[in-house]
Amino acid sequence: MIYPGAILAVLGGGQLGRMFTLAAHSMGYKVWVLDPAAHSPAGSIAERHLQATYTDKDALAEIAAHCAAVTTEFENVPASSLEYLQQFIPVRPSASALGITRDRILEKTFIQQAGLLTTPFLIITSVDDCIAACEKMALPALMKTAQMGYDGKGQALISSTDDALKHFENQQNADCILEQIVDIKQEISVVLARNPEGVTQCFPVGENIHVNGILDTTIVPANINPEIEQQAITMAISLATTLDYVGVLAVEFFLSQGNQLLINEMAPRPHNSGHYTLDACITDQFEQQVRTLCGLQPGAADLLKPVVMLNILGDIWRNEMVPDWNTVYRHMAAKLHLYGKDKPLSGRKMGHINILSDSLSGAMETSEQIRQQLGF
Ligand code: AMP
Repeated sequence: MIYPGAILAVLGGGQLGRMFTLAAHSMGYKVWVLDPAAHSPAGSIAERHLQATYTDKDALAEIAAHCAAVTTEFENVPASSLEYLQQFIPVRPSASALGITRDRILEKTFIQQAGLLTTPFLIITSVDDCIAACEKMALPALMKTAQMGYDGKGQALISSTDDALKHFENQQNADCILEQIVDIKQEISVVLARNPEGVTQCFPVGENIHVNGILDTTIVPANINPEIEQQAITMAISLATTLDYVGVLAVEFFLSQGNQLLINEMAPRPHNSGHYTLDACITDQFEQQVRTLCGLQPGAADLLKPVVMLNILGDIWRNEMVPDWNTVYRHMAAKLHLYGKDKPLSGRKMGHINILSDSLSGAMETSEQIRQQLGF
């Protein structure tokens, strides 16, 4: 077990690293952040910001020498860096878990081998695969790069073999999948925390609304029947157990019009759809990340009140004008979280608001008012 006073490292200095750092600080730990950017949301509040690439040997050696354990805020950290670090200190989640979740082909194959359902897909690693996949799968379908795709990036709607060949070329012939389009009724997610002894706490299922491929709103409790809810939780726990996972794991699902629950993807870290836990649960997902990293018991994950989480993107800074945050503070159970990013770019996640209420309808009503007042 790693006790307060120790230094924890996080690879990646974005908003997830920042909220990890805030949780670690309040629990009495120190944090070092590795991030190549000069300014980063986590680097600006950590005890130390190592401004270097994720493969920088000196920076990694410093972390190995001074930190008690290391975690990551994104799955694309090079495997060689994680493998190097895990010779000296615990890396949680492990290099192998990150390796699987980093690549859609490995991830979906793993899920199927675990006996669970994913969206039907075909693997594309060559021009020939591209042509064959378009013959096999009903079009339109979605083509997604196997790696480096998030928030809808690297994805294209494919209506013909020509479209597929063009997308494959645009992605420099990187490995892709062709995925069937699901007639989605609802999107839901499960975030859980699992410690090295396998003790697991699951947060309540969240219902997610995406706009342009980016998460817009999470609603908890999700408006789904209790059987589906239980099924999603069982599937997420089964994945974590099969992976012998340590850390916070998010599992995203599509619920089809026919009530089939399909796993879309996993994230080996706290997730945007779990930001509601910061204000609405006994323990939040970042505290769980610190607890599981340190080999401690995960905290209780119960929901305290119904909640709606609204993401704030850079688009609401019209003409660079800072939004009138007072419209949020006027609602006494609305909690604003801003990530300290310097430039409010379009589509960039700048913060979020958790709106709590004694009833979900109350939280929804307030969230609509806030949306109107902020104009999004
Ligand atoms: P992803 O990056 O794969 O999580 O996709 C982002 C969003 O695009 C999802 O949350 C869905 O709203 C939508 N999407 C992705 N894949 C599919 C699919 N196979 N069928 C329908 N919608 C999808």
